[in-house]
Amino acid sequence: MLAYGRQSIAQDDIDEVVRVLRGDFLTTGPEVPKFEEAFCAYTGAPHALACANGTAALHMIAMAMDLKPGDQVIVPSISFVATANGPHYCGAEVIFADVDAETGLMTPHALKEAMARADKSRLRAVFVVHLNGSRVDLEAIAKLTKEAGVALVEDACHALGSTYPVGNGTGNVGDCALSDFCAFSFHPVKTITSGEGGMVTCRDPEMAARLALLRNHGLERDKDLFTDPEIGFEVGTGEHNPWAYELQMLGYNYRLTDFQAALGRSQLAKMSRFGPQRKALVAAYRRKLAPLAHLVTPALNTDNEDAVLHLMVGRIDFAARGKTRRQVMAQLRELGVGTQVHYIPIHRQPYYAKLNPGLNLPGAEAYYAGCLSLPLYPDMTEADVDTVVRALATVLGD
Ligand SMILES: *Cc1c(COP(=O)(O)O)cnc(C)c1O
Repeated sequence: MLAYGRQSIAQDDIDEVVRVLRGDFLTTGPEVPKFEEAFCAYTGAPHALACANGTAALHMIAMAMDLKPGDQVIVPSISFVATANGPHYCGAEVIFADVDAETGLMTPHALKEAMARADKSRLRAVFVVHLNGSRVDLEAIAKLTKEAGVALVEDACHALGSTYPVGNGTGNVGDCALSDFCAFSFHPVKTITSGEGGMVTCRDPEMAARLALLRNHGLERDKDLFTDPEIGFEVGTGEHNPWAYELQMLGYNYRLTDFQAALGRSQLAKMSRFGPQRKALVAAYRRKLAPLAHLVTPALNTDNEDAVLHLMVGRIDFAARGKTRRQVMAQLRELGVGTQVHYIPIHRQPYYAKLNPGLNLPGAEAYYAGCLSLPLYPDMTEADVDTVVRALATVLGD
C-alpha cells in the first residue's frame, strides 16, 4: 500500500538517535543547539529555536508577539487547524481569509478582502501558509502587511526546502527576509522528521531570546537580567546564587529532546537528496498526469517551479465523475493507493464556525471539494507514480 506520505528513516538516522541515548543528555544537552545551528545554515535564518512540535512553534510565535484578547489575526481557511489555534491560544480573534480555488493559497487579493473585514486598530498579524510546499506571493503580501503595520508570520510546515523571489534574487523559505517569524513541523509526514518536533526562525535577536524563554516555562537564568536580588544573590556578599532562576513571564515546557534533535539534524543533512527526490517525483506526476487532465489536475502554484512539495494534491471534479470522494478513495485503496484530504476549511470546523456565523469563503469551499492528496515521499519510485496514475485512470475513467 502506498501511503500519501511517510518518513524516510535509514540506519544512519537510527545510529544518531542511539548515540545520544547512550550519552549524558536526553534533553537540554548539546544536540538542540547543534540542530538549530544546522537549521540556520540551511535556511539562512539568523536565529532558530527548536521546540516540541509545529503547533508549539506557532503558539510560541503568538506569545513572543504578545498577542492577547482583543487582538485580531488573519489566517487562511485552508490549512491544518494549528495555524489558527496558535494565535487563538493567546486569545486573539481569527479572521479567516479565502484562498485561490485552484492552488489553495491565500492570494494578495484574498488578504486585502480579509483585511477589509478586520478592525484596523486591532489587527496585529497575518499568518500565511505555503500550502503543500507551494509558496504564497510573499513579496506582494509583505508589502500589504508593511502598509498595514502588522506582523507577517509564515507557517512553513509544508515548505522546508522551497524558495521564493525577493528583489532580483531568491530567498529560502525560513530565512525570514520578508517576514517576522517562520514556523516548521517535523511530524513524520513532513519533509523531514524528528518524531514530533518543530522550529521557529526569526531575525530579531530580542524575539529569539523571548522565544528561548517561552519554550522553557519562561525561566530567566541570566543573572544580569534578574529583578529580585534576594533570589539571585547571596545576602551580605552579593555573590551570584548558581541555582537561581526567575519566572518573569509565563511560558510552557515546549522543549525538543536531544535524541529528537539528533534525528532532526541527521534528516536535515539529507535535504540535498530529499529535495531533488521530491522534485523528480512531482515532475513525473505532472508528465504522467498530463494526458488525464480531463480527470485530475495537480494543485500547483505554477510560477513556483523550484518548490519542494510536501503534498502532491490532485484536483478532481468528483460530481462530474459520478462518484463521491469517499468512493474514489476506497477504490484507489483497493488498488494499493492511499490518499488523504488536506484540508477541511478551518472556518467550517464547529469550534470556529460558532465564532464566525454565516462566513462564506467560496475559494476555500471549492478547493476543499476537489482536493485529494496523492502519495508523495522520498522513498517512492517512478514506478510507484505509474501505479498511482494508472489507478486514477481506472477509478476516474469513464
Ligand atoms: C503539521 C502542520 C502544523 C502543526 O505541526 P505539528 O508538528 O503537527 O504540531 C501546522 N501547520 C501546518 C500547515 C501543518 O501542516
